[in-house]
Amino acid sequence: MQRLEIMKFGGSSLADTARIEGAATIIAGYTPGKVVVVVSAMGGVTDTLIAAFHKTREHGVKAAHPYLSDLRDKYAAVIDGLPLDEAATTELRQHIDTLESALQSDLQDVEAMDFDDKRLYDRVVSYGERASVLLVAAALQAQGIPAVSIEASELIVTNARFGDAEPILGASRQKLQGVLTPILEDAIIPVVTGFIGATVHGEITTLGRGASDYTSTILAFCLDADKVTIWTDVTGVMTADPRVIHDAQTISALSYEEAAELSFYGAKVLHPMTMLPVVQKNIPVYIKNTFEPAAKGTKIAARGSSKTATVKAVTTLRGLSMITIRGAGATSALQHLAKIIDALLEKNIEIITLQQSSSDHNTVILVRSYVADEAANSIAKLMIDDVAAEHSVVRVVPDVSIVAVVGDGIHALPGLAGQVFSSLAVSGIEAMMIAYGSSKHNLTFAIKTADEHNAIRGLHQAFQLVAEDT
Ligand code: ADP
Ligand code: ASP
Ligand code: MG
Repeated sequence: MQRLEIMKFGGSSLADTARIEGAATIIAGYTPGKVVVVVSAMGGVTDTLIAAFHKTREHGVKAAHPYLSDLRDKYAAVIDGLPLDEAATTELRQHIDTLESALQSDLQDVEAMDFDDKRLYDRVVSYGERASVLLVAAALQAQGIPAVSIEASELIVTNARFGDAEPILGASRQKLQGVLTPILEDAIIPVVTGFIGATVHGEITTLGRGASDYTSTILAFCLDADKVTIWTDVTGVMTADPRVIHDAQTISALSYEEAAELSFYGAKVLHPMTMLPVVQKNIPVYIKNTFEPAAKGTKIAARGSSKTATVKAVTTLRGLSMITIRGAGATSALQHLAKIIDALLEKNIEIITLQQSSSDHNTVILVRSYVADEAANSIAKLMIDDVAAEHSVVRVVPDVSIVAVVGDGIHALPGLAGQVFSSLAVSGIEAMMIAYGSSKHNLTFAIKTADEHNAIRGLHQAFQLVAEDT
């Protein structure tokens, strides 16, 4: 059987000409026909495009010119730096210029509109990946490797939730196989845009920030690949964010569930949806470092490394607000809860965590901060409309983070909660909301964001996630 690997390169692994050539050298180690490459925008480009969109929206397209000229300089430097012959240089320059003109025209449309058009937003932010595939394919060709750039809007079909679209796997599978199989049979390496797809009507969508990881596992699912490798700027999934904990260690093996929990609770190294497509087909995912390709990295598969339950990592999800709803009146605890959920459903607001104490009808929920006021107003309004609950009090506490302690089976570890909370007590940190036992793979609690670093540091030490000789 033909073996196939999907490999994805993130923005930090494509930051400049040298990094792009480094990625091409890694890809060159594989046999054309047996690998599909997925690439993100060059580091910082998506942020620049988002800034250009907002500037145009507020002050017109002229105000976005500095961003566009930054991008132009960045791409010109790569084109000049790659060892291409004259014809290839001219062709690449023309393709990048065509993209830039299309971006400018989309920004003109942004200027002309009088509402926040999510379709246009997705179109504008898609240009980073669309430029990257051209550069990486050219870098491969410069090394004599047959490669072709492809936009995933031709491959991945999504729903129309612009900005955070969901793939429709059945339809995507058909398209992916139809387009990519003949290319692979011709022993050519397809270089595919991460992050984007298109609706059934062909309108470009994006799958959410950081979603090129997700693209790679969608491709693995649809093409029945044997393996996914996510190439990034760290040696794998680590015991904590290495930017916060400098002696964090690389974890050699994780289960799908452990990886999914870590990514949901803020470990940026993986997009939260990444594991979903591969779990179903048991396809292993490796996380490796483009700066240190020989390092083993992390293997994520059906079974992690440990036979016994142990804490593997600690992580935090910030940017949350806590809404407390103090119940009053004659409404039952259940009706009270139903009203809160109705209010949030109506606004399509995701609940990160919810707790209720039935005795006094008090409910506490965590939501993302950017929707907290909308959520609180909507709940308060429903309560006022309800005579029985009209004296309820709704309060918002901003700047909250969730800390997650993650490891398969830790729900049954005797003394785990005690260890966690004595570590917090030593640092004088108060936990506001605790969830333990509802998942087999984690213990989570909320704290003030200001306490986040101390909490993670204390827990990392308490669970000896640091190698003994460090
Ligand atoms: P890419 O550009 O390759 O997609 P990202 O910046 O999205 O890379 O993800 C890699 C970053 O994730 C690392 O540089 C690191 O700072 C951060 N990170 C956060 N938590 C973890 C963790 N537990 N393990 C490894 N990296 C983490
Ligand atoms: N370029 C996109 C982003 O910055 C997707 C990705 O990097 O995975 O969010
Ligand atoms: Mg990423």
